[in-house]
Amino acid sequence: MRINHLTTPAAVPATPSHHFAARFAAFILAVTVFYVDTFTSIESAIAVLYVIVLLLAAESLSRKGIWAVSFVCGSLAIVSYFGTHSFSPDFPSLLRLAVSLAALLITCSLILRNDRSRSDLIASHAALKDSERRYRSIFEQSRVALWERDYSQVRSFLMGLKATGVIDLREYAAARPEIISHCVSLIRTVAANAAARDLLGTIGEIAPDGSMRRYLAPNDVTFLELMVAIFNEENSFEGKGNLMAADGQTKLVLMSMTLPDDSSKFDRIIVGMVDITEGEMTQKALLEAQAELTRASRAATVGALSASLAHELNQPLGALVVNAQTMLRWMDRDPPDLAAIRRSAERMIRDSKRASEIIRNTRSLLSHEVQILERVGLPELIAETRALMDHDLGREDVTVDVTYGPGARTVAAVRIELQQVLINLISNAIQVMAEKNVPRRRIVIETERRDNRSTVISVRDFGPGISEEAMARLFVPFFTTKATGMGMGLSICKSMMEARGGDLSARNHTDGGAVFEVTIPMSENDD
Ligand code: ADP
Repeated sequence: MRINHLTTPAAVPATPSHHFAARFAAFILAVTVFYVDTFTSIESAIAVLYVIVLLLAAESLSRKGIWAVSFVCGSLAIVSYFGTHSFSPDFPSLLRLAVSLAALLITCSLILRNDRSRSDLIASHAALKDSERRYRSIFEQSRVALWERDYSQVRSFLMGLKATGVIDLREYAAARPEIISHCVSLIRTVAANAAARDLLGTIGEIAPDGSMRRYLAPNDVTFLELMVAIFNEENSFEGKGNLMAADGQTKLVLMSMTLPDDSSKFDRIIVGMVDITEGEMTQKALLEAQAELTRASRAATVGALSASLAHELNQPLGALVVNAQTMLRWMDRDPPDLAAIRRSAERMIRDSKRASEIIRNTRSLLSHEVQILERVGLPELIAETRALMDHDLGREDVTVDVTYGPGARTVAAVRIELQQVLINLISNAIQVMAEKNVPRRRIVIETERRDNRSTVISVRDFGPGISEEAMARLFVPFFTTKATGMGMGLSICKSMMEARGGDLSARNHTDGGAVFEVTIPMSENDD
């Protein structure tokens, strides 16, 4: 990659032989002038020629040396004067001496002043070179990809368009897309640092003319925006652009540059670029993952809803079938027992109502609808639940004993929810005792007040109790140890109770069997 350096005016340094020749010539000239001035009768200001001696010698002398030569030349002129005119000093010869001495003095001071300005110039040139070197090292070593580009031609072109009356460059370029590629060809890349070469590859091999045409991806729109910024004489430009690296890869870069006020400085504009391809891709991947997650969680919600409904509707639907079968049996009697048919029909209506209430409640739970708590009398609720489970209890020969603790008879709850919880716990108890062939199948339901803060309904069975493994995952959705189980019952019950500020917990009784405790927070009206 070519990097332009500031070129310095070629200064040919004086060699020692040059110095010697100059001093020798000065010496010969001084001796000649002195001789002519002292020993000939030429009546003119010969001593003025000492100025040439001084000029000849000055090149190879220090400031002190210049002073010394001036002093010697002046002294020689005075000596010559007194040697020739000591006895008859006249005004014209005195004037000539004065002119010669004045010329010497003026020349000496001019040489000294010139010397000072020359040293100042050299010092400022050295400082300039130093700052150029520093700039180069910052440019080269920067980890940001930096390009030095010449935008002067493209600026002239754009300003020319403006002068012809173009006001909106975007509109103009939309009608004549070829101007974009023309603008691209007018920009020359002068230098690129190592980071820029890493980013896009070596431009020297691909674009010997330094044009940046090769780098613009076909879908790039940022270049036009940059042209608009120059056209509108903005002070800076920043934008995201698609560039093609030397290996053909498309890179998304963030570029930024300062546009000078002075048009003559457009030949050296620094363009900084940061590769944001990976960051952008990560962001895209993140958004995709988020969308996937949303889809998955929606699917999971739908899944949970259907699993929950399937589970909870199992019981009322089962009861409906049983009652329908019973009704059919009563109808087949001759004569049909109309009163019994009526009872079965009423039970079927009750089960259907419960099924629809379960659906409604599950929906409202999932949509986080605020449910109004009702006063629920525990004796009535438990009696009703028992009646609902009558068939299952009778089939597996399970008895239910209920004890009410002091003051634990009403709670504030959503009736259908509390009933669902009790049905789940009683069903599990019946199933586990039937499965393990427990000889005396009993369920004990107790209600009690705790610390005047909550009411607890405990459901105890006399089965094998909860295994250690099951205890750890009891309330995790889809955890089941049953061949045909769904593993949703306990998790639904726990979340329903928690949603109302209560809880559902489990433990093993010291005398055997499992105990499930339903905790309902107390309200002021509980008794
Ligand atoms: P499912 O009844 O479909 O398995 P549950 O969530 O109601 O789903 O129960 C999850 C698991 O908890 C059961 O599979 C069983 O292992 C355990 N479990 C529930 N109730 C009892 C109980 N009374 N005694 C022992 N284990 C129980």
